Amino acid sequence: SHSLDFDNDHGRVRVAVRSRPRNAEELISDADFNDCVELYPELKRLKLKKNNWSSESYRFDEVFTETSSQKRVYEVVAKPVVESVLSGYNGTVMAYGQTGTGKTYTVGKLGKDDASERGIMVRALEDIFASTTPGSDILEVSYLQLYMESIQDLLAPEKINIPINEDARTGEISLPGASVVKVQDLDHFSELLQIGEANRYAANTKQNTESSRSHAILMASVSLDFRLSQSTYIQVHVRRSINQKAEDATTSQEKDVKSNLSGGNGIPRVRKSKLLIVDLAGSERLDKSGSDGHLLEEAKFINLSLTSLGKCINALAENSPHIPTRDSKLTRLLRDSFGGSARTSLIITIGPSGKHHAETTSTIMFGQRAM
Ligand code: ADP
Ligand code: MG
Repeated sequence: SHSLDFDNDHGRVRVAVRSRPRNAEELISDADFNDCVELYPELKRLKLKKNNWSSESYRFDEVFTETSSQKRVYEVVAKPVVESVLSGYNGTVMAYGQTGTGKTYTVGKLGKDDASERGIMVRALEDIFASTTPGSDILEVSYLQLYMESIQDLLAPEKINIPINEDARTGEISLPGASVVKVQDLDHFSELLQIGEANRYAANTKQNTESSRSHAILMASVSLDFRLSQSTYIQVHVRRSINQKAEDATTSQEKDVKSNLSGGNGIPRVRKSKLLIVDLAGSERLDKSGSDGHLLEEAKFINLSLTSLGKCINALAENSPHIPTRDSKLTRLLRDSFGGSARTSLIITIGPSGKHHAETTSTIMFGQRAM
């Protein structure tokens, strides 16, 4: 198939695995480490070595090898989410994995010199620009960093400790005080990403930490003029109704869209939806035995957010009525863009070298919690 299948198992997070190529150093110094995974992309499976004698096979929604292109990864993992956002639903794409396995390459790569290298953020915005109408549709972005349960604005780094607000009526999540920039075109967006990246680097240098310790979150809000995009909405909605046993599965978000469509005097209002693209903090176990109290705190917070993310993903997979999003800022931020009518893709990134067998195993187990 062409892309992740969102029609069955409503709400469940879709999980793709991507293995990056061995780098020059690994080709030389790790040559004696056999790969700890074998990939079977046609079967959407991988085999993980357990020890010298046995391995176990795991199935995912998609398996990408070291030769999979950025374009293909985007089309399979993110495009269905972007399409759904363009139809009025919220959606999330996240990258999870050990530092150095390709999270930022996959989601954040700018590809300034080589457009084929562009990552998910740039491609998503490109698609949104292609399907919206300047003037009537509005595209706005915020770019944030979440570090030790504190949210910082990457477009205005003096703004720290940004609160998370949840609208009591609609459940909509917003970040009062964070910059919201109206994006004119793709070049403008690339500039914003670059500014954000530079600010992320500067902030981390100042805090004497690494960017791998923080989550980077791009929030793209699309305000669609439904007079222009009704047909797309109707196609998606009809398809969903058929697949979802319609009315009882209808969320308040969908009702909202409907009332917009049939709104006052037959003139549809503007419908807002948003896309979150998240470059998660490195999932590696941090050394808690060190004497540095700051690192210990840092490790605790990263564990808190990734553990609570895992719990939510697990609850969605089990169709649980209760998704425990209150436990961390990361999951509170995702609350309205996660489960329900929102489409969520998770791409887990791994390295090929058997040297990181323990971390690779833990990453694969994290991904399996959604299956
Ligand atoms: P992370 O964000 O997970 O720490 P990065 O995205 O920074 O990892 O990737 C680490 C290095 O590997 C970078 O130099 C990146 O360009 C390279 N890399 C990652 N994935 C791929 C890939 N699929 N193809 C080629 N190079 C890759
Ligand atoms: Mg990174």
